[in-house]
Amino acid sequence: MGSTTDCEVLVVGAGPVGLLTMLFLAKAGINVILVESLPDVDKSPRAMAYGAPAIVELERAGVAAEARSVGMVPSDYDFRLRWITIDNKTLGEFRSEDRIPGSFDAVLCGQYELAKIMKQHVSQYQNASILFNHKLSNIKEVEGALIATVETPEGNKEISAKYLAGCDGGRSTVRKLLNLTYDGFTLPQWLVACNVRYPFRAHGFDRSQFIVHPDHFCLVGKIDPTDLWRVSYAEKPDLTREEVLANVHSKFEAIFPGPKPLPKDAYTVEIVSPYRIHQRSAPSYRKGRAFLAGDAAHACSPFGGMGLTTGICDAGGLADCLIGVLRKGCDDSLLDRYADIRRQKYQDITNNVSYSNTCLLRDTDPEKASEHEFFRMMNSSTEVRREMLKSAYILG
Ligand SMILES: Cc1cc2nc3c(=O)[nH]c(=O)nc-3n(C[C@H](O)[C@H](O)[C@H](O)COP(=O)(O)OP(=O)(O)OC[C@H]3O[C@@H](n4cnc5c(N)ncnc54)[C@H](O)[C@@H]3O)c2cc1C
Repeated sequence: MGSTTDCEVLVVGAGPVGLLTMLFLAKAGINVILVESLPDVDKSPRAMAYGAPAIVELERAGVAAEARSVGMVPSDYDFRLRWITIDNKTLGEFRSEDRIPGSFDAVLCGQYELAKIMKQHVSQYQNASILFNHKLSNIKEVEGALIATVETPEGNKEISAKYLAGCDGGRSTVRKLLNLTYDGFTLPQWLVACNVRYPFRAHGFDRSQFIVHPDHFCLVGKIDPTDLWRVSYAEKPDLTREEVLANVHSKFEAIFPGPKPLPKDAYTVEIVSPYRIHQRSAPSYRKGRAFLAGDAAHACSPFGGMGLTTGICDAGGLADCLIGVLRKGCDDSLLDRYADIRRQKYQDITNNVSYSNTCLLRDTDPEKASEHEFFRMMNSSTEVRREMLKSAYILG
């Protein structure tokens, strides 16, 4: 074994949840170390839009403006989110005039870019250090502390900490080492996330839209100022990963607006990533001195943008409670409140909303959409749409 390093909080995982937790702690003067198994932040195509309560946390951390400057051009501030049929008929929409007066601007920015901004902010604090190529492999609790074993290119190291924040994603090692289960279910469909260049706007699409369809339900949204778009669609359950990848063109043919048949040279694909969709949560987000946050604690369908939005709210809550206990004389039981409240928020809000959004896209007959409670509310008045938008804040 190599040297022993001490810190107040050890964060595991340099995803946005781990980095944001670390940033809040670093700002409060807490000694924090983050270990990440990869050589740098992960680049896989995932989140791109964040719900209202997450934007409150991003503003509080001082990273929202930068995220907007990386991810958005001025026209992107004109807020419009549509639910459409496969032939681009609007079933319901939120528009700029529905915006809650005084609310923050939207934040649209790829998860990887957001994580890079957080990493850069963290680097300004001497009391915070990020160790890449450091993979957590064991945790043991000793009196008043935890000792983590991490695998590094130079061999194993031990890092001791008063508390540990497990922000190490859906396959969380921390969760497994704490013997916590990940209860729930996995949806049968694949979710295929593609970053693609295609003139969606010229063919009548807006910045963001969901397509309601039993086989081709999907999200199509612009990701960045270079006109890169994300197309995240559902794919048949019985296909192998290879078959999913071989079927990309025929899915684009079904989903994309514009001339049919769709010429293969009409678009450029930058990346295609098939995922499984899970609705799962650990039974507890605390065990002793260790905590779970973000995907390590819970997972949900990405249709609805609830996953990282919830994780970002976890990060704010966990950091606040740790600061309370480590700096403000609060009792350790405050940390139980973190675990209980955030789990309740997942159960009551994230799980329900993300799953029902997915079912809405998959199971609604577009011919009868106007009878669906969701579209009925959405198509009633600005006041009702504002109330719908306001309800998002209870996740925070
Ligand atoms: C296609 C897709 C689109 C999505 N879109 C949205 C969206 O628009 N809005 C939204 O809110 N959510 C969205 N999500 C969900 C969002 O991507 C996740 O909720 C988010 O990645 C969770 O962040 P995290 O920091 O908890 O975990 P992760 O981003 O998974 O980060 C975990 C980190 O921990 C590291 N790690 C793992 N094990 C160890 C170990 N043993 N030691 C050290 N490090 C370790 C990993 O390498 C990784 O860097 C989407 C998901 C998908 C798949």
